[in-house]
Amino acid sequence: MSDVAISGAGIGGLVTALCLKHKGFNVKVFEADTEIRALGVGINIMPHASKLLIQLGLGPQLDALGVQTRCIEYRTKFGHLIQSDPRSIEAGFEAPQYSIHRGELQAMLASEVEKQLGNGSIKLGKPVVGFRQGDNTVAILFKDGSEFNIDLFIDATGLHSKIRKQMNPNEGPLCYEGTMMFRGAVETDAIGDGKTMVIAGDHDVKFVTYPISERARQSGCALTNWVAEVRHTEPRHINDADWGRGATLDFIKPFKDFVMHDMNLIEIMEKTEVVTEYPMVDRNPLSSWTKGNVALLGDAAHPMYPIGANGASQAILDAWSIAHCLSESPSTGGLQAYEIARLPATSKVVQSNREGGPEKVLDIAAARVTGPNDRIEDLISLKELKHVATSYQKIAGFEKNMPKLNNKK
Ligand SMILES: Cc1cc2nc3c(=O)[nH]c(=O)nc-3n(C[C@H](O)[C@H](O)[C@H](O)COP(=O)(O)OP(=O)(O)OC[C@H]3O[C@@H](n4cnc5c(N)ncnc54)[C@H](O)[C@@H]3O)c2cc1C
Repeated sequence: MSDVAISGAGIGGLVTALCLKHKGFNVKVFEADTEIRALGVGINIMPHASKLLIQLGLGPQLDALGVQTRCIEYRTKFGHLIQSDPRSIEAGFEAPQYSIHRGELQAMLASEVEKQLGNGSIKLGKPVVGFRQGDNTVAILFKDGSEFNIDLFIDATGLHSKIRKQMNPNEGPLCYEGTMMFRGAVETDAIGDGKTMVIAGDHDVKFVTYPISERARQSGCALTNWVAEVRHTEPRHINDADWGRGATLDFIKPFKDFVMHDMNLIEIMEKTEVVTEYPMVDRNPLSSWTKGNVALLGDAAHPMYPIGANGASQAILDAWSIAHCLSESPSTGGLQAYEIARLPATSKVVQSNREGGPEKVLDIAAARVTGPNDRIEDLISLKELKHVATSYQKIAGFEKNMPKLNNKK
């Protein structure tokens, strides 16, 4: 049995550690930060990814933290309901979609890793800067000058991965098509049924909001996560994307035209204490994620626009896949099988997200709507709506019959 080291204790790295442990591997995780802090705001775990976390025994923790999203409502800026895309078990999915605070999810996963793999299995304050391959092992190189020898090395250090850079020294800067995302989370009264995600507007000016705390929901209010997207016309490359960068509300003006029957967007944004900004960036898909006994996973392998709630979900699918492939072949062959299983699939998601993913319906409606008195059914057909939703579900892999992760090696 090979020993495995993972760099990055984000969502992808931690779920990979749990999946590999489930398969009987010895695993160590190295994280750059000196503590696991509750960073970020809301993310979504789609049904096919939450199904896997539930198989790992994390269902009760997810239920306690995250809101089980009933549906996603796509609306025009005048408040017309374009489409309601159901996401619940009642709608036929095998597991719920959870809307959840990223930092709380990460903290929960880290504590599970410590519980299941043993205290000290996550080494904090260990930024990884590179690797050096030997005959059968790989030396992981740390910023403090130390090294760690291991059989297999999985890098899950996210968007700015130095391992990806070492594997692809000539790769260009991050791709940015001009959209900035302003984000925050704030306590509000419950909005609607307290379980609905709303995406309103169009490609140029878009407002996304959803509740992310089950605790708040149970007490009759909501921790409301919001993202205000504004597209600037000049495309440019941005290489310093940082989820923690603070922002002001200078961008808010175009949202004053939005009319929603169940919420006051401006009030929600103005009440938010901490607003951050993040550019919508991704990278072109690579032709390979592996080099011998080293592999990339999650955002390190396939950073994508956070459209269609896919960043965390695809990292979780990677985690399941790499554990499954290594249990079949605990060597470089297993890493290659993982790459074959996941690289083409995630490349399609990267590409589809660039074209708007399931949110394409917003642009179709925005191009046709003239004002609040229009009837949406006169503007866009059910057939058109269904086509957009089902094509994306297929690309993102909303599978109903994923194999179970139950056998130890
Ligand atoms: C601080 C932060 C906040 C985020 N907030 C949001 C959000 O609000 N909404 C959203 O949709 N997505 C957010 N994301 C991105 C989202 O978590 C990912 O798209 C998705 O979960 C896939 O995760 P990942 O594990 O591949 O990468 P990430 O979640 O980016 O995790 C990477 C991990 O690697 C660690 N790391 C980085 N460099 C090194 C290094 N050299 N050596 C060792 N460890 C390293 C990081 O500290 C982090 O813990 C955030 C990411 C981060 C890091």
